[in-house]
Amino acid sequence: MSRDPRYDILFEPIRIGPVTAKNRFYQVPHCTGMGYLRPHTLAAMRGVKAEGGWGVVCTEYNSIHPSSDDLPHVSAALWDDSDVRAHAAMTDRVHAHGALAGAELWHGGARSPNLFTRETPMDVASLPNLAGHPFQTRAMDRTDIRDLRRWHRRAALRAREAGFDIVYVYATHGYLLANFLDPRVNTRSDEYGGSLVNRVRLVRELIEETKEAVGDRCAVAVRFKADETIGDDGVPEFGERREMFAMLAELPDLWDINVADYSLEMGVSRFTQEGALEPYMSWVKSATTRPVVTVGRYTSPDAMAALVRRGIADFVGAARPSIADPFLPRKIEEGRIEDIRECIGCNICYAGDATGTPIRCTQNPAMGEEWRKGWHPERAPAKGSDARILIVGAGPAGLEAARALGARGYAVMLAEAGRDLGGRVTREARLPGMSAYARVRDHRAQQLAKMPNVEIFRESRLTAQDVFDVGADHVAIATGATWRRERFDGKAFVPVAVDGAEVLTPDDIMAGRLPDGPTVVFDGDNYYMAGVIAERIRETGLPVTYVTEEDSVSAWAGKTSERWRIRTRLMRLGVDIVTAHALTAFDGRTATLECAYTGAPLRIAATGAVLVGQRTPNDALHREILAMAGGDPARLPFTLTRIGDCDAPAIIAAATYAGRRYAMGMDAAADPDQPMRHERIDVGAAAAGAPDAAYRETLLRYFEEEVAGEAWFRALAARLADPAHRRAMTLLAEVEAHCAAIVAPLLARHGLRPAPRADLVASGEADAARGPQDWDGMIALMRATFPGFIADFLRLEAMAPEADRAVLRRMTEHEVVAVAFLEAEAAGAADSVAPLLRYLATPVATPPIDARPAA
Ligand code: ADP
Ligand code: SF4
Repeated sequence: MSRDPRYDILFEPIRIGPVTAKNRFYQVPHCTGMGYLRPHTLAAMRGVKAEGGWGVVCTEYNSIHPSSDDLPHVSAALWDDSDVRAHAAMTDRVHAHGALAGAELWHGGARSPNLFTRETPMDVASLPNLAGHPFQTRAMDRTDIRDLRRWHRRAALRAREAGFDIVYVYATHGYLLANFLDPRVNTRSDEYGGSLVNRVRLVRELIEETKEAVGDRCAVAVRFKADETIGDDGVPEFGERREMFAMLAELPDLWDINVADYSLEMGVSRFTQEGALEPYMSWVKSATTRPVVTVGRYTSPDAMAALVRRGIADFVGAARPSIADPFLPRKIEEGRIEDIRECIGCNICYAGDATGTPIRCTQNPAMGEEWRKGWHPERAPAKGSDARILIVGAGPAGLEAARALGARGYAVMLAEAGRDLGGRVTREARLPGMSAYARVRDHRAQQLAKMPNVEIFRESRLTAQDVFDVGADHVAIATGATWRRERFDGKAFVPVAVDGAEVLTPDDIMAGRLPDGPTVVFDGDNYYMAGVIAERIRETGLPVTYVTEEDSVSAWAGKTSERWRIRTRLMRLGVDIVTAHALTAFDGRTATLECAYTGAPLRIAATGAVLVGQRTPNDALHREILAMAGGDPARLPFTLTRIGDCDAPAIIAAATYAGRRYAMGMDAAADPDQPMRHERIDVGAAAAGAPDAAYRETLLRYFEEEVAGEAWFRALAARLADPAHRRAMTLLAEVEAHCAAIVAPLLARHGLRPAPRADLVASGEADAARGPQDWDGMIALMRATFPGFIADFLRLEAMAPEADRAVLRRMTEHEVVAVAFLEAEAAGAADSVAPLLRYLATPVATPPIDARPAA
């Protein structure tokens, strides 16, 4: 299939300063919970997005200096050369698919607690920590501002070195630069405070300095909010934003526009719809000639094309739509609109950042698993046998298992008791504001409809005997879970209903069994369900009291950013709220609550009570099947597995993940003791007396850099016309090769295997392609960087076991002669290449260390 011409506009290349994006699909910076802690995981994930067709793929926020540390929220960093290497792993993958890579430079100011680095937080004024910690910032003085500008510049240079094409000045989201701009927060009386010109000064300086530092090769983007304060939804309050924008409008190469209200920008589908930012930012495009990107949870290509056609933005920005479907652009390009896996707006992805763990997605179970499990959002290995698989239950777990197994080519039978597919998402999607959750079902049902190898049996409630009769080779039980009528008191489930009264559950409400008088909704789950149930009952006109033992409404939904909106909604609907109380008894007339702190009782008149607590796995079928084999799974004629809520009730994202894991594990040689790769710092075997992992890893990397370096010098030599220049550059290449030959025995000694030579050569050549084009530029670059390498080699010597040091000294020496050449060359010496020739005249084999004369 080919692309619908209506969407051609989305595939136009767009220039951003010195670089060009191949299309208008722009993955804006978004948190991942990976950052500098999990660079492999991160690089693989971003690479998949580039593969899926995004023209621009950005990092998350990059701390520019230890004075901006967000742990336990994991940011990326650009503090030193190891960060450069980590980022290069990502930019390489992004570039391999023709996309641009963007880095967002970040200083959190009063939002960074610096719990890890213990550097003093600083901001425009002495402010309380804006993330709620009980400490304040230092008000930045002129030295601090100078330092900040230097750190920002250095981080920009590192970003360029790491291969980024777009570098951000991040002036929004309540971080440091946003506070300088803000007329209420910025109370300074120096040249950085007071007038608008003064408050804009720092951002202007950083834009100019970033352009000056990296603008030759990188575009400079600014992230900026279009409105001033959080007003009512849909009613922007611009304040002085337009005036401020006019002062900066033409300085950067790109504007990345967001809004003051993060709960709107990051809004869940229950409260905000696609394109929600437009009323706030539609003025921006007419105020600058620079390209503009904005977000809006766009999953419809029509809405995306309209955004561009109506002149609101040049790029369609996306975080969540690119998480739910990294291949969204490719699907539009290939005319496969119906294959798009639309984000449901649940913000489980955001919960990764909130909990300091890698990002997860309800719709895309491969998100975050690209590196450690090798999963891909679109591809899976072909089936490993002709096995026939029965899946019982078509909720999110069963549907995803059937879809993924079907995609692998297996013969699959999917049996569902009801008429509708979707299980819990079908039921929940009928609750107020929850309709987008049906996308979990719709995407999978739509894919299954195209698979001749998957048969779906509706209205087929299977018994254990039925399961045996099907004669499948493998059986997955995905029969979900049922909401309980008891409350968990911290240790055990205890009854709440007394005197013959009945307590309802979300299952009752979803099935249409509503109370008929004043109702208490008790939230023992603390995610979204109790709030939605309260809203559902309140919309029938009944008085409703929401009760939770927590101190806040929908406490866990703080991790998905929605709890504040949930509470606002309930309050506006007139739902009474009681926090820090448990529902301990309901007799049909009165609900008895107990204070979580004092135990004091509180009685509320109510004829209805709904308990939103925990769920019981529907695992009776699983137990019956096992019982028919005498409790011994080995005696079954098929493998038997529980997946999803029937295994362990959880969020929908866990169910789709369980379905995918089941499908990926089919006929796969998995080691249950080691089910995944583990990304962490490996301290190696140092404790056992062997050289430690860091040394071995560095040795290998430096060796590989010599091989790549040779290719780099040769590629540079090839573009030089002057024979003397070309000879010198070729000699430098030979020095690299000579050094690699000298070091090679150490690799053998430690059992280290370098990457294939062809790959290293390719990476050296790719680096050279990005490097300087003329002799002067080459010499300048080398003079700026090579002395630092000497220090790196000396550090390696210090890490090395004694037996390796003689060889490593010769490795350091090769950099010393290169620097000597550069200095001689800069001084105009006729025999500048003499140090190189001397080095090349030395033998490859290094005499044993004790045979060397004392230095
Ligand atoms: P999950 O979130 O784990 O996918 P759900 O509760 O959403 O679980 O879905 C479970 C599905 O299993 C429901 O659609 C339910 O109708 C179906 N189901 C339950 N028991 C049986 C059974 N014995 N045979 C077929 N389908 C069943
Ligand atoms: Fe969208 Fe939810 Fe996936 Fe986030 S987790 S991308 S909100 S479907």
